Amino acid sequence: MDAEVTIIGAGVIGLSVSAALSGCKGPVFVIDRNLSFGQETSSRNSEVIHSGIYYPIRSLKGKLCTEGKKKIYDYCNKNDISYRKCGKLIVASKTGDTQKLLEILKRSQRNGVTDGRIIEKDEIAEIEPYVKATTALYFPTSGIIDSHNLMKQLEADSVIGGSQMVYGAEVVGIKKIKDGYRINLIDADKQKFDFSTKMIINAAGLDAGKIAGYLGVNDPDYRVYYWKGEYFGVGNGKNKYVNSLIYPVPEPNTVGLGIHTTVDLGGGLKLGPNAIWLSDNNPDLKVDPSHSVHFYESVRNILPFIELDDLTPDQAGIRTKLQKPGDPVRDFIINEETNRNLPGFVNLLGIESPGLTACLAIADYVKDLLAL
Ligand SMILES: Cc1cc2nc3c(=O)[nH]c(=O)nc-3n(C[C@H](O)[C@H](O)[C@H](O)COP(=O)(O)OP(=O)(O)OC[C@H]3O[C@@H](n4cnc5c(N)ncnc54)[C@H](O)[C@@H]3O)c2cc1C
Repeated sequence: MDAEVTIIGAGVIGLSVSAALSGCKGPVFVIDRNLSFGQETSSRNSEVIHSGIYYPIRSLKGKLCTEGKKKIYDYCNKNDISYRKCGKLIVASKTGDTQKLLEILKRSQRNGVTDGRIIEKDEIAEIEPYVKATTALYFPTSGIIDSHNLMKQLEADSVIGGSQMVYGAEVVGIKKIKDGYRINLIDADKQKFDFSTKMIINAAGLDAGKIAGYLGVNDPDYRVYYWKGEYFGVGNGKNKYVNSLIYPVPEPNTVGLGIHTTVDLGGGLKLGPNAIWLSDNNPDLKVDPSHSVHFYESVRNILPFIELDDLTPDQAGIRTKLQKPGDPVRDFIINEETNRNLPGFVNLLGIESPGLTACLAIADYVKDLLAL
């Protein structure tokens, strides 16, 4: 075999797995179609280190988010990667919200999140003097991270640990062979080549469903749906009025967490993301300027200092979800496929939020699945 393990995708998940496989016996290849790491979803998100608040009990999302948060802060401390525990407030803004906050608090505690507490008007005013709210649920250890430098460090650790990064190479087919797999690629000059590998980790993000399909894994359960999340930047100096992550109380079965503030390490302030189903699975990254009105209306009750003309279109990212509109919430799929007669093939599908927070815990989980 040319490789022991091949990781398809050098987003934050593929890089975390390759870093975790450092020192693994036999060559590890990391393949990505772009010319550098993290050019897709991993560089188009809110960069929030989530606490693991909302996820169903015993879900992979809940477990890996809670474990991942601790691991990522430790990793940042060890490697001098910037982060800030800016805290998160989920703010009650209408009748019935306070009861919902209590339910979210209970769920977060069952998920092992220990820092959440209800705070009232005076304490909210100390933390966020310009936010209009009488009750909120506060998680002081939620934070934001420099995700580019996180990925850069993970890439460095991978290379030091023996992984070979292969950029500008797109996987276009995979065949099962004796004791492993043959992977077909096209490089940036449209040249075809192929190699053999004993194991494959499918961390291909938006195209993870397509990669699974190359080996005949096409179940409806594994189908990936695209949901765009748009952001609007908040200008006119209004960034100085917010320090933390401010969220509304989420509606049941929503696909996102509701339009919220995202602060960044440079002091900038954004609103978003919304959630737009891309029914044709076309990864369209345009931000529609007319959506500023909806963003403005979503936050004006709790952030009264924001005006419509403070908002300008910013970035968009695409969530890979396993649910289409109206479906119940789905968990991550992280499966080793021996049951399908595909030993050593690991699929990671629907790695939406909290994938960034959970990346290091996901990597350890995958390593355990393969007993590496
Ligand atoms: C709007 C938005 C906001 C989010 N906010 C947060 C947040 O605040 N906190 C949080 O924890 N999570 C957040 N997430 C989730 C997080 O961004 C993702 O879980 C994470 O980035 C997924 O990483 P990935 O490596 O699986 O995917 P990607 O980053 O997309 O990486 C997949 C890689 O596979 C490569 N690839 C695909 N197909 C092929 C092929 N055929 N051949 C070769 N290479 C291929 C691509 O080039 C790509 O680089 C957010 C996501 C979105 C969309």
